[in-house]
Amino acid sequence: SRTPDPHDFLDLDAGLAEEERAIRDAVRAYAKDQLLDRVAEWYESGALPAAELAKGFGALGLLGMHLEGYGCAGTSAVAYGIACRELEAVDSGLRSFVSVQGSLAMYAIHKWGSEEQRQEWLPRMAAGDALGCFGLTEPDAGSDPGSMRTRAVRDGSDWVLSGTKMWITNGTVADVAVVWAQTDDGIRGFVVPTSTPGFTANEVKHKLSLRASLTAELVLDGVRLPSSAVFPEVRGLRGPLSCLNEARYGILFGVVGAARSCYEAALEYTLSRSQFGKPLAGFQLTQRKLADLLVEVNRAGLVALQIGRLKDAGSLHHNHVSFGKMANVRSALEVARTARSMLGANGISLEYPVMRHMANLETVLTYEGTEEMHALSLGQAVTGLAAFR
Ligand code: FAD
Repeated sequence: SRTPDPHDFLDLDAGLAEEERAIRDAVRAYAKDQLLDRVAEWYESGALPAAELAKGFGALGLLGMHLEGYGCAGTSAVAYGIACRELEAVDSGLRSFVSVQGSLAMYAIHKWGSEEQRQEWLPRMAAGDALGCFGLTEPDAGSDPGSMRTRAVRDGSDWVLSGTKMWITNGTVADVAVVWAQTDDGIRGFVVPTSTPGFTANEVKHKLSLRASLTAELVLDGVRLPSSAVFPEVRGLRGPLSCLNEARYGILFGVVGAARSCYEAALEYTLSRSQFGKPLAGFQLTQRKLADLLVEVNRAGLVALQIGRLKDAGSLHHNHVSFGKMANVRSALEVARTARSMLGANGISLEYPVMRHMANLETVLTYEGTEEMHALSLGQAVTGLAAFR
C-alpha cells in the first residue's frame, strides 16, 4: 500500500461520489482563480464585493445547493458540505456568505414559506440576483432567542414590525430579510423586503474577526407588511432552530477547510524555513505539532463526513449537529492557534492565512450556537437533564 497523502491522510476524499468530487474541484478552481488572491485585501479593508460574489457563487450552483426545485441544484448533503469545506479553506467569511444565503434565508423560505414566497424569492436567490439575510439575534437576546423583543402586531390585515436585530450577516446588502418576531401567537417568521419603509441596516464596524464578511444591525421601525409576508404555518422557536441546524451542518464541514489551510501553511512553512542549520520541520517539537494538526484535521474531516452521510440517509438528529459543531470548531481553533505559533512572526501576518483563520474561528465558535450551548445540548442528550437555565 502507498504512503498516506499528507494532504488527505485518511484518504477521506476517495469515498466521495463523483458529483461530490466534481463540486470539490469546481469550488477549488473558483477559489484559486477568484478568491485566494483577493481575500486578504477584503479582510484588511472589511469590504466585500457582495454582488459579484453572489453572481459567482450562484453561477457555480452553491446558493441553496442542497435544496430541491426553484432553481436550486438539489445536491447531496455531503456535496454541500464539501463545498463549504473548500470555501472555508479560503475564509470563514466567504463560507458564511453562502451559509446565510442558502442555509438560513433560502432554507427558511423553502421550508416554511408559502408557495408565493418561494416563487418570488428562491429562483433569484439561487442565481445570486437577490441576497438574503436572517435576523434572529438581538442586542439583548443571543443564546436565549426566546427572550427576543422584536414584535409583530396586526393592523387590519397588515403586520407591523418593530425592534432591533444585531450581528446580522449580509444585512447591509440583503434584498430580503427573514425576520423572527414575537406575536400574540408565539414567535413567527416574516419575509421582509429591505426596501420596505422603516427598515434600515447599519454596518457593524470594528470587528477583529470575520472581517471578510458584512455584519449589520437591523432596525425595524414600524415596518408595515401585507398579511402574505408571514410564514403561514410555523410557530415558536422550532422555525428558526430548524434553519440554524442547516447552517451548523455547513459549519461543521466548513471548519475542516479552515483547519486544513492552517495545517498546510504550517507544513509548507516549516519545511522551507531553516533555523539552527536545518528545516524547522526537522525538529522534534515541530513534528509533535505537525502530528497533532494532522490528527485534528483528519478527525474533524471524518466526523463531518459521517454526519453528512447521516444527513443524506435521513437519520441526522440535531444532537449529531451539536456534536459536530462543537467538536470540529474546537479542533479547527486548536489547529489554527498551534499553526500560528509554528510560523513565528510571520504567523501574525496577513501575508499568511493562519491568523486570519484563527481570528475568524473565534466568531465561528460563538455564532450558530456557542460552544457552551452545544455542550449543554450534548449534556442533555446523554443525561436527560436540561441545564440551560
Ligand atoms: P450570549 O448569549 O450573551 O453569551 C455570552 C457567553 O455566555 C457565551 O460564552 C455563552 O455560551 C454563555 N452563556 C449564555 N447562556 C449560557 C448558559 N445558559 N449557560 C452557560 N453559558 C451561557 N445572528 C443572527 O441571527 N443572524 C446572523 O446572520 C448572525 N451573524 C453573526 C455574525 C457574526 C460575525 C457574529 C459574531 C455573530 C452573528 N450572529 C448572527 C449572532 C450569534 O448567533 C450570537 O452572537 C450567538 O448566538 C451568541 O449570542 P451572544 O453574542 O448574545 O452571546
